[in-house]
Amino acid sequence: MFNLVIFGSPGAGKGTQSDKIIEKYHLQHLSTGDMFRAHIAQNTKLGQEVVSIMNSGQLVPDDITIKMLEEEILKHKDAKGFILDGFPRTIPQAKALDAFFEEKGEKVNLVIQLDVSEDEVKHRINERAKTSGRADDAQDKLIKRIDEYFQKTIHVLPYYKDHNKLEVINGIGEIDAIFENISKVIDNHFK
Ligand code: AMP
Repeated sequence: MFNLVIFGSPGAGKGTQSDKIIEKYHLQHLSTGDMFRAHIAQNTKLGQEVVSIMNSGQLVPDDITIKMLEEEILKHKDAKGFILDGFPRTIPQAKALDAFFEEKGEKVNLVIQLDVSEDEVKHRINERAKTSGRADDAQDKLIKRIDEYFQKTIHVLPYYKDHNKLEVINGIGEIDAIFENISKVIDNHFK
């Protein structure tokens, strides 16, 4: 199995690059944000529990998030590997993921940080808002998620750096050029 964590602020291009990685390497996409949004859309018990937290742009508690992710991993017994997008966002989540994979003889093989500065992502989403006419509250929510990333989530990176798993990719430039750099890093670890 090849398990990849993709890390980056909202607006850093994580979604675009994840799609390209999935297409090329056939990894199973696991996005905890998408999972929560599906629970909310289906109005499940979990969805009702997390809707106000998500709307405020804060993080869902670790125990809820970890349990949901582990259950999802177990559903994909035939996966060649996973791309984790939006998880882990805290050190306890990172440690829980390591313990979970270890039990199965697996591991996080590689962590890619798509590096775009806070000023640049905020500039990008302001530009996007101008062209898409995104509603003000959606824009405010996005800013809160970006703040959350730069204040909290980013502190998970040293954990992976210490385990020699972190590769930093410059997220500014042409989509295809960025993907080429990502591919090189993946190919080096995939062998
Ligand atoms: P995302 O689409 O990954 O930006 O996630 C959207 C929202 O879902 C976040 O702002 C959090 O409220 C929640 N969420 C997603 N992943 C996690 C996570 N790993 N830990 C805690 N909350 C999460």
